[in-house]
Amino acid sequence: MKIGILSVSQEIYSTQTLLQCGLARGHQMEVIDYRKCSMVIEQGRAEMYYKDFPLSQLDAVIPRITSSFTQMGAIVLSHLKLMKVFSTVKPDALLMARDKLRCLQRMQEVGIDVPQTAYVGNGQPIGPLISMVGGLPVVIKLLESAQGLGVILSESYRNAESTIEAFQQVNERVILQEFIREARGADVRAFVVNGKVVASMKRQARDGEFRSNLHRGATAQSEPLSLQEDYVARTAAKATGLDVAGVDILRSERGPLIMEVNASPGLEGIETFTQVDVSGKIFDFIEKKVNALKNGKVKRKVTI
Ligand code: ADP
Ligand code: MG
Repeated sequence: MKIGILSVSQEIYSTQTLLQCGLARGHQMEVIDYRKCSMVIEQGRAEMYYKDFPLSQLDAVIPRITSSFTQMGAIVLSHLKLMKVFSTVKPDALLMARDKLRCLQRMQEVGIDVPQTAYVGNGQPIGPLISMVGGLPVVIKLLESAQGLGVILSESYRNAESTIEAFQQVNERVILQEFIREARGADVRAFVVNGKVVASMKRQARDGEFRSNLHRGATAQSEPLSLQEDYVARTAAKATGLDVAGVDILRSERGPLIMEVNASPGLEGIETFTQVDVSGKIFDFIEKKVNALKNGKVKRKVTI
């Protein structure tokens, strides 16, 4: 098959792993910098070009959209959808996963528990909101945070207030969240492919840190999920519309809470710590799906 990886660089670990995995399976692979694609809309036809290569020739794409290029990525995915190229990430699913509040609203809609959360309206008093999400300390998050960089633990009202004011000053949207103390700096990452949890690991923040992102120096190990965790991970991925998803779960006294659903989950940590060939699972899914589409077993959905 001809499969494109949408990525800003070949050098990124996950891009390289997917590239090698696809080549080893005999696919024709192309890394496509989606920021440099030209898109054409003509009567009855849509096309996209990358360095003169018409992307309608592709059987499938695996998007690895960086958080700073979400909007551009979604436009490219919408165009590929018009062109009927199969993608492991749909544009709407990408947009939902990249907005923490929208994602939490969706979890609420499908009955999945999340930490108590409040969106702070511009210039609004935050004292009452802090009480509503369980008091101090409180977690402050940028809606578009990634790799733990926009996540802060605030111990005082004064500090929380000035942090939020500073973010709002630069037009960043923020949420306040109940601090799940009993998680003790750990969370669980469940990797979901095509509706199944294919690998899972527990990540533990380093000493003095509450964020368990591997990019923030956390350590990890393979971790089996409880039946309930497996269910919420699959439901969260499905509700977001993601066929490939990294679902982050906090273990709380009232059960598993979904923190977020990642649309471009990293492969390095999960493959290293669990020894599962997650890339292979992604290709198994693509091969199955593309073959079914070719044989007309699956109808392409067109929604108006
Ligand atoms: P990012 O998208 O930047 O990774 P997350 O919402 O996943 O943001 O938060 C990063 C990390 O911070 C999580 O993996 C978790 O360890 C910790 N964390 C986030 N929210 C909470 C919370 N409400 N209570 C306790 N720890 C949290
Ligand atoms: Mg996270």
